[in-house]
Amino acid sequence: MIEEKIIAACGNDCASCPRYAVHPYEKTDDELHHTAELWMRIGYRDRVVENEEIVCYGCKPENWCRYRVIKSFEPMCRQVCTDDEYKRLEKAFFEKEKNLSTKMGNKWSSDLEMNNMDQIWIDMYNAAKAVLGGKTISDYVTAGEVSAAVRSKSGNIYVGVCIDTCSTLGICAERNAIFNMITNGEYEIDRVLCIPPNEGKGAPCGACRELMVQLMPGKYKDIEIMIDYSKGQVMKLGELTPEWWID
Ligand code: SF4
Ligand SMILES: [Zn+2]
Repeated sequence: MIEEKIIAACGNDCASCPRYAVHPYEKTDDELHHTAELWMRIGYRDRVVENEEIVCYGCKPENWCRYRVIKSFEPMCRQVCTDDEYKRLEKAFFEKEKNLSTKMGNKWSSDLEMNNMDQIWIDMYNAAKAVLGGKTISDYVTAGEVSAAVRSKSGNIYVGVCIDTCSTLGICAERNAIFNMITNGEYEIDRVLCIPPNEGKGAPCGACRELMVQLMPGKYKDIEIMIDYSKGQVMKLGELTPEWWID
């Protein structure tokens, strides 16, 4: 195995993943078959699947594996893996929080500095980063893969993480941060920043935009939102969402 990390959007290290087959990490048919057999042993699959199914060419928006975040297989891995197999899976899947904080911390902090973002954005970023980190809370609830910070008009910063559940009980990080602000007796948002689980843009979803609109009718258009760290791109909610059912 080549000693280099390739950190996926969810924090997994593809370079250590026995499924990963992009040059120079190609796998033989026997190796892939062994992985398929291992995947059944640890419970990721209910049968030994074909090599074509087990092979993976890395993290993509349509193939965003979330081993351990969706359900913790770590205890099963301990039980059924050899020491070598366990070490490899540990490196690939069980150091997610560390991988994510290093990757995002390094990349986005330097992006903010490079783009001369003001100190308020940097403070918001640091506040959101402090609560970032995917965690499995139960077999049904995960949290923290996305975090957000909102700054109130008075200048206070409130944070929130996304919470993912079965039966649509979860919440986006942005709305969680806004609820945190409301809980603390503040009702007007000045800026919003989120740390999404990939290198892409961080525009809030429709539900979060709707909440901001309903919270600040007549004023929501001025809320500033960090859209893209790599470009230092900030947009007002009124530009993002020019037509809304509330003026
Ligand atoms: S299964 Fe996940 S960790 Fe493994 S190579 Fe694919 S994207 Fe990367
Ligand atoms: Zn949302």
